[in-house]
Amino acid sequence: MKGVMAACASDTGLVRKRNEDSYFVGGSCIAVADGMGGHNAGEVASSIAIETVESNTALLETGEMEPAECVREANLRVLEAASSDSALSGMGTTLTLAVWDDADIKVAHVGDSRAYLVSGGTIQRLTDDHSVVGEMVRSGALTPDEAHSHPGRHAITRALGFVEDLEVDQGTWGFGPGDVVLLCTDGLHDVVSDQEILEAVMAKSGDGPEAICEFLVAVAKERGGPDNITVAAAMRPS
Ligand code: MN
Repeated sequence: MKGVMAACASDTGLVRKRNEDSYFVGGSCIAVADGMGGHNAGEVASSIAIETVESNTALLETGEMEPAECVREANLRVLEAASSDSALSGMGTTLTLAVWDDADIKVAHVGDSRAYLVSGGTIQRLTDDHSVVGEMVRSGALTPDEAHSHPGRHAITRALGFVEDLEVDQGTWGFGPGDVVLLCTDGLHDVVSDQEILEAVMAKSGDGPEAICEFLVAVAKERGGPDNITVAAAMRPS
């Protein structure tokens, strides 16, 4: 736990009027959420998801609560808020949450916000996109290259705010000295490739996680910033 540095950067981008992404950095947790819904409902949904992480940080840190359990609680809170206010009905959000200890990192997620692990000069995607296109790639119907420009790539198949009994993916990976775990919403990974994310992390890791996050947000904006962009990173010094 000691020694890990974490940071986040978030930007509305150049096309959208509002930033409906939310994020959290605190304790031994980082999280990003990408809200959807009319008016400001997407913003409300992603904020509720992130507030749920924030209120459970102590339990997540001690391992008393699994990250996936926290994601399920966030889902129930989003559903509850939507059912109590008709203006919020139909709102939803992604949530990707990473929690580390002295040796490992656990990642739980629902939706198409991703987690990556950069270790030993290579990048590994830790999450499957819960999107129509993501499922087509996993079934072999599309190549990752075809998926990148597919017009249906934003159609999400799983998100918080739709069903009570939500299936949440969770995994555990080694998180050793020099490793960087990076979370991002689709506003980054739609316009910046995995290889470019790796190169950015390698180039900027000497300046710390804040420099990594800010650099990647700037690259997404150079590419037109078509969506809200949020990047969170945790780095264990070598
Ligand atoms: Mn987005």
